[in-house]
Amino acid sequence: MKLTVIGCWGGYPARDGATSSYLLEKNNFSLLIDAGSGSLSKLQNYRDVSELDAVILSHYHHDHIADIGVLQYAKLIQFYVKNSDSVLPIYGHTKDLEEFESLSHEYTKGMPYDPEQELKIGPFTIQFLETVHPVPCYGMRITDGESVIVYTADSSYKDEWKDFAENADLLITDCNYYAGQDGSKAGHMNSEEGAKIAKNAGVKTLVLSHLPQFGNLDQLVEEAKQYYHGTIRLAEEGMVWQS
Ligand SMILES: [Zn+2]
Ligand SMILES: [Zn+2]
Repeated sequence: MKLTVIGCWGGYPARDGATSSYLLEKNNFSLLIDAGSGSLSKLQNYRDVSELDAVILSHYHHDHIADIGVLQYAKLIQFYVKNSDSVLPIYGHTKDLEEFESLSHEYTKGMPYDPEQELKIGPFTIQFLETVHPVPCYGMRITDGESVIVYTADSSYKDEWKDFAENADLLITDCNYYAGQDGSKAGHMNSEEGAKIAKNAGVKTLVLSHLPQFGNLDQLVEEAKQYYHGTIRLAEEGMVWQS
């Protein structure tokens, strides 16, 4: 499977950037994981909106869903212009029904996922872990039967991440803070916490994402290196990981 970073900023998009969004592809199936601010524009550097097969959302904070509304308009405009009447499934949890129901529109349909159950979308099988965050939020362990990607979405540190991320080929962590800073009140991790999960879970590659708009981002990698000795990459738009 192939993962492309579409947006990697936490909270709000830095200049010319986008917040959380990742494109996961296999065998011509395209799944968008989160749809943060700016992601619909950035996505089109890699795929046409009409090529999306499904969307899945970790939670309903703006920096993960801001572009759902304009994605719904894009689908509507494609119907007007190209008579394309395909309905895009948008998977979300139902812990906030008002938010979940807003996923359905003329050419998008909200699809509930039960975080206690495995979910199959196209070639992907997804397991969930409830994160530590001010609103219900779910991390994902995604496999195509060959390799494994774990995405923490937004979360403070908790020990369960170790088992959930065990032996993953790729771990994408919430790295909204620098080592020594306490992100737990805001429901986020720092570079040190993400690196400890990567080390303890024995993952092959760590991507630091949900990045802060302050400080020197390269420092996050240096801090993570103190704990984790595998491959560490700083997320950036267009970064590709392929298994
Ligand atoms: Zn976020
Ligand atoms: Zn959040």
